[in-house]
Amino acid sequence: MSEKINLLKTFVKISLANVKGLLFKVDFAVTYKCNHRCRMCNVWRVYLEKPEKAKDELIIDEIKRVFQKYNRFIWVSLTGGEPFLRPDLVDIVSVIHESCKELSILNIPTSGSLPSYIERRAYEIAEDLKIPLVYLTVSLDGDEVTHNFMRGIDDVWSKALETIFRLHQLSLSYPNFTVGFEYTLSPFNVGSFGPLLAKLREYGLTDLEKNAIVTLAHTGNLYHNTRMRALNDNNYTLKAAKEIKYLMKSVRSSLSDPFSIVRCIYLELLLRHLSRPIKGVLPCTAASGSCFIDPYGRVYPCIIVDEILGGLRETDYDLNKIIKANKFTSFRSRIKKDFCTGCWSPCEAYPSIVAHPLLSFYKAFLGV
Ligand code: SF4
Ligand code: SF4
Repeated sequence: MSEKINLLKTFVKISLANVKGLLFKVDFAVTYKCNHRCRMCNVWRVYLEKPEKAKDELIIDEIKRVFQKYNRFIWVSLTGGEPFLRPDLVDIVSVIHESCKELSILNIPTSGSLPSYIERRAYEIAEDLKIPLVYLTVSLDGDEVTHNFMRGIDDVWSKALETIFRLHQLSLSYPNFTVGFEYTLSPFNVGSFGPLLAKLREYGLTDLEKNAIVTLAHTGNLYHNTRMRALNDNNYTLKAAKEIKYLMKSVRSSLSDPFSIVRCIYLELLLRHLSRPIKGVLPCTAASGSCFIDPYGRVYPCIIVDEILGGLRETDYDLNKIIKANKFTSFRSRIKKDFCTGCWSPCEAYPSIVAHPLLSFYKAFLGV
């Protein structure tokens, strides 16, 4: 019960921060190192093509300075590449936790390819740092054959599954620690959600369903795939909608905490986004409540738009200076004027929902 109350309090805190115009969430790509070869994302190519770039990633002391100078984040998402390929990932979490006294949600998506290593790091985070909600998601894009095909490597399904098993065990001992899986839906794997759930049931992992995230594969800056035409193929929307509706049924039947309500709203609006871009349905928090930082300290409005709003190395690691600068404020005004065609990526959709609870409830359930 205390987790549910904590979560509710966190959502209220986020909503108030948004009213005050504070940046409350960051998506920080801690590395672009990646040991997969995914079909819908090109991050794995970054260091294959330019290995020397890996040396430019922010080091821990620089990261510490960033979060000491801007310490008002309530929600931090550490993404990548594969975040667990950063040997100092736990130190990064630790400096963020020490600096941001209001930190309430930490989420880390992983491909789950290093089961025992990830379990050890997750244990350190759960045991040593008392962050109110730690949420780890492991990617699963279908059953074994589909997942390995999507991820471009032969044996990653079994590793991802082992990681889920291990993290699931860990979550039984730490009530603030939740594990889920993330299904990235694209024209390459549409129709694979049912077989995936059937497999998870076979392995006795039925309760993971309530924490499943369906992400529509997007083209965008973080994914280094802006020219990937296959993802813009709209012919798969009917099949995709069927998969989303399937998950919605199970989410609706287990509406028991604030997070499940947010997920339900997210899925309702995802369905709408599939049939037509969701532009203007909800005010977007990019460059007002949230932003994206890449591994080299460049600040973007969100994970999709490829527009650098400032560089942390050039501003003495002070995000406040970037927030006040012209580029940032003018992007914020453009977003208010509806410049963007819209996206419905969970990294941005979830904070937008939490920041506008009544409006999103109204839009999702009473219709627009
Ligand atoms: S989706 Fe994740 S695992 Fe796949 S290439 Fe992109 S960063 Fe790597
Ligand atoms: S709607 Fe917002 S989060 Fe999505 S691409 Fe546009 S600016 Fe980025």
